[in-house]
Order: sequence, then structure tokens, then C-alpha cells
Amino acid sequence: MNDTLPVMQMLYSEEQRLAIAGFRRFAEAELRPLADKYEKLGCPPERAAMLDLFRRLDDYGLVSGLIPAADGGPGIDRFTYGLLYEELARAWPDMAIAILIQSHVALTLVELGTPEIKKSHLEPLLRAQRIGCSCISEPNAGSSVAEVQTRATLEGTRYRLHGQKLWISNGAQSDFAIVVCRIDGKLDMLLVDRDGDNYQHRELEKMGFVSASTCEIFLDDALAPVSHVLGRSGGGLYQTLKLFESARVFVGLTAVGIAQAALEEAIEYAKQRRQHGKVIAGHQLMQTYIAEMATELDAARLLCQRALRLLDLGVRCDTQTSMAKWYATEMAVRVTSKAIQIHGGVGITKDFKVERHFRNARILPIPDGTTEIQKLIIGRNTLGVSAFS
Ligand SMILES: Cc1cc2nc3c(=O)[nH]c(=O)nc-3n(C[C@H](O)[C@H](O)[C@H](O)COP(=O)(O)OP(=O)(O)OC[C@H]3O[C@@H](n4cnc5c(N)ncnc54)[C@H](O)[C@@H]3O)c2cc1C
Repeated sequence: MNDTLPVMQMLYSEEQRLAIAGFRRFAEAELRPLADKYEKLGCPPERAAMLDLFRRLDDYGLVSGLIPAADGGPGIDRFTYGLLYEELARAWPDMAIAILIQSHVALTLVELGTPEIKKSHLEPLLRAQRIGCSCISEPNAGSSVAEVQTRATLEGTRYRLHGQKLWISNGAQSDFAIVVCRIDGKLDMLLVDRDGDNYQHRELEKMGFVSASTCEIFLDDALAPVSHVLGRSGGGLYQTLKLFESARVFVGLTAVGIAQAALEEAIEYAKQRRQHGKVIAGHQLMQTYIAEMATELDAARLLCQRALRLLDLGVRCDTQTSMAKWYATEMAVRVTSKAIQIHGGVGITKDFKVERHFRNARILPIPDGTTEIQKLIIGRNTLGVSAFS
């Protein structure tokens, strides 16, 4: 039996275990078939279908869960929310990424939005009536956010934006975008409504996460009122890096969910496939693979959970969030690759899910700070010497 998860769960409260079990039933019955459907279609759900899914996922707190009661959410701690998020990623990682963006756009509005913006944008976001996206990366600004070139120029009571954003999750279905841009040369965050075609998008074709929207966003003459500047003037870089601290742990947890699914499929296959007179699960080298997969997966899960607990405490923990993101995402590449190896030839066919897990896992060491950037953060914080400057 695969006892990794049940034993881990002894560390959780009764309430947390019940929440995981309830959500898993929903995910198995409702989400997995949709994950398969959209994978075959090769495209993300349309906006209306996405909003419907967000509403159903919010029955478990997955959209509004992290939002404090004062701002209209249930204020679930990140650790507990992370337990459900991992389950979502195990069933449909593409939807987990969409939820990650929606929930962190909401957190940004909680932190930086005025009371008016909370009313006009946060409330409908939490009620799953609108979809947000976060526009940081550009063709010439990826790992280095400080090199963002999109600019906003004041014209009376509004800003006019010019620029292009790249790799924007939820871009296709979004109703508004939080845009990192230059105002008077300084980096700021500006909330830009789509309002018909105030900005446009083009969906990108990717090797994995094919049912998660990832877009180019074109801001040619897009307009935003001056009241839509988020946070303090010139605070765009700091605010973005702060947002990454939480978001990157959830990228790590997405990897944990994918690796968990791949491990379960590898175990099931190894126990029924026979070669050399016995099931391949009985061959020592196959057991070594399974042991390595299970151990690395648990290590990644624990690193993510530690980071979430530290975020819950509100202490600075960018070293620990970077460790979690780097290790978990690279772990998932190794684990899903071994899951294919255990399947032999059938592992590379679309008849089995492990090839999908591998394609998805391979993407995750890139977003929200590449593996190399995470190591530079850990190195800087550990050595007290920055390699960035
Ligand atoms: C699926 C997906 C979803 C995404 N979603 C969003 C989103 O919603 N919003 C958004 O704004 N962005 C998003 N991104 C963008 C993502 O954050 C960037 O891709 C990432 O930051 C890397 O930037 P880049 O692709 O331009 O690579 P580059 O920065 O060009 O890096 C290329 C290579 O150079 C390395 N490198 C760069 N600088 C250094 C250095 N100083 N030292 C050593 N090596 C270095 C990198 O590690 C990498 O290996 C998404 C990306 C993906 C793949």
C-alpha cells in the first residue's frame, strides 16, 4: 500500500483531514474528468466556464480562502489552504495555476487596494464574478523585474499605457490586469480594466499546462484612472517581490500535487505489469525508484509546508520560500521522469497520464523565479553577498 499520505495526515488536525477527504471526493468525481476533457481539447476553459468552476471551488474556500474576514473572506491560514491546494494540483494542476493567480490578485488588492477598489474589484473577484491576472513579465524583462519597460503617462485624470506583457496566466479570461509599469521612470502597479478591448491578448501554445491560459497582453493606448495606482508611488518592485514570496510556494505545491499523482500511477502500474516472471514492483531497481520518488516528494512537501507556516507567522522567509519552490519544482521533473521510466514504452503514450505529468512538471522550474534565481536568493541570504548587482 502507498502509505505516504495517510501517515503524513496524522500530523494534521481532524478538521484538516476531513476537509482534504471531502475535497478529494469532489476532485475525483468532478475535476479529473474536466481535466481530461480540456487536455484533449488543448485549450483553457472559456471565461464563463472558468467562473462557474471558480464558484464551485470556492465552496471549499479555494478562491477567497486566504482573504481575511475584514475584507470578506474566511481567513483560512496558508498551511490549511495549502493542503486543499495540493489536492487540486493532484487532480487538475492547470486549474490550480488559475486559482493561484486569482487568489494572489485578490491578496494584492487586500494589501494595496483603496476602499473603492476593494468594492469595485475585490468583491466581484471573491464572488467569482470577475477574473484577474497579474502582468509583470515582458519580452525584455523576465528574471529581472527591474527592467520592465511598459510605461504609463498621465493625461488629466487618467494614465495612458504602452507596452507588451508576456506569459500572463489567466490572460485570456481576465476582466482586469494588475500591470507593473513605469510612471515617471519609477516602477508602479496599476489596475487596468479590460472594458471591451482596452487591452488585447494572444494565447501562447505550450508543451504542458495546455488547459491553463498563458498569454501575451498588448497595452497599446490602454487607459486607467489615476485612482487605480496600487500601493505607494514607486513601490512596484518591492510589492512584486513581496507577492512572489507567497505565490512561489504555491508553484512548489503545484509540483507536489503533480508528483503525487505520478507516484500513485507508477505504483499502480508497477504492481500489475509483469516481466521476468514477476510484477516489476518486485524488482529491486524498480523499488529503488519508488523509494527515491516517495522520499523526494515528501521532502518537497515538507519544505512547502514549512514555508507556508512561516508565511502564516508573517515573518520574512524568502530563503525558505525559495528553497521550497526550487526543490519542489525540480523534484517533480525527476519524479515524473521516473514515473515514465517505470511505465516503459507505454509511459510516453497519451494512453497513460504520466507523459502529461512530465510535460506539466517540466514547466514549473521557470515561473515565479527560475531555479537559478531561487538559488541566487538563497545564496545571497546565506552568504550576505548578492550576485544580482
Ligand atoms: C507557465 C508560466 C506562467 C507564467 N505566468 C506569469 C504571470 O502570470 N505573470 C507574469 O508576469 N509572468 C508569468 N510568467 C513568467 C515567468 O515569471 C518568467 O518566465 C520567469 O520569471 C523567467 O523569465 P524569462 O522567461 O524571461 O527567462 P529569462 O529571465 O530570460 O531567463 C533565461 C535563463 O537565464 C537565467 N538567468 C537570468 N538571470 C540570471 C542571473 N542573474 N543569474 C543566473 N541565471 C540567470 C534564468 O534562470 C533562465 O535559465 C509565467 C511563465 C510561465 C512559464
